[in-house]
Amino acid sequence: MSGLRRPLIAGNWKMNGLRADGEARARELARRAGGADAPPCDWVLCPPAPLLPVVAAATTGSPIGIGGQDCHPEASGAHTGDVAAAMLADAGCRWVIVGHSERRADHGESDALVAAKAQAAHAAGLVAIVCVGETEAERDDGRAHAVVARQIAGSLPRGASAANTVIAYEPVWAIGTGRTPTPDDVQAMHAHIRACVPAGIDAGALRILYGGSVKPGNAAQLLRLPDIDGALVGGASLAVEDFWAIGEATR
Ligand code: PEP
Repeated sequence: MSGLRRPLIAGNWKMNGLRADGEARARELARRAGGADAPPCDWVLCPPAPLLPVVAAATTGSPIGIGGQDCHPEASGAHTGDVAAAMLADAGCRWVIVGHSERRADHGESDALVAAKAQAAHAAGLVAIVCVGETEAERDDGRAHAVVARQIAGSLPRGASAANTVIAYEPVWAIGTGRTPTPDDVQAMHAHIRACVPAGIDAGALRILYGGSVKPGNAAQLLRLPDIDGALVGGASLAVEDFWAIGEATR
């Protein structure tokens, strides 16, 4: 981490949980994050859309922000099952994840669509957490840096800035697998991302998160790297103790 950028710990609950456990988890995290001895980081929870109201209520008045897991590029209309960025903002969100590899894979999302979603997020006043990352085959072929550079070029909309955009580097092969790249590989990729963001973005102020099997046991090792500004956490964000321990690793 660098003293220039406040660390951000974001939890992606994916399609997990019902109201009771979501509310209990959010309430306990809000209590801890509001404490005088809380770690020096920003916290974001991204629950499934139906849980947003309950998580918003449970975290009101706390330092915890909430976010959506996706948004549609258009502001409204005939798009059954989709959620507009303004609806997320109206539900209390300040953040939204776009371009998660599960959406890129499950829904065939292209870089251009991800950029359109990020642009819609910005128009609604949300910070877009734009996910990029290579597959295992791409890494094995030595193409990881080229793939991520292409994703960055295609997935960031005009108007993206360090204030309205966070990049999450999530190697696809590390998500939910318990495997992570070496710290040297993560640092090299984050430095590469910082070097290849478009000229309009203040690269020194941009937060770049690492995501992919972040756990209490590896968080400190990853978060101490100079170009890692926090974590996007999937599985470990579903357990309060684990998610909190990852935040503690930002000290
Ligand atoms: C994710 O899906 O964003 C993620 C990082 O998942 P996990 O932490 O479970 O690998």
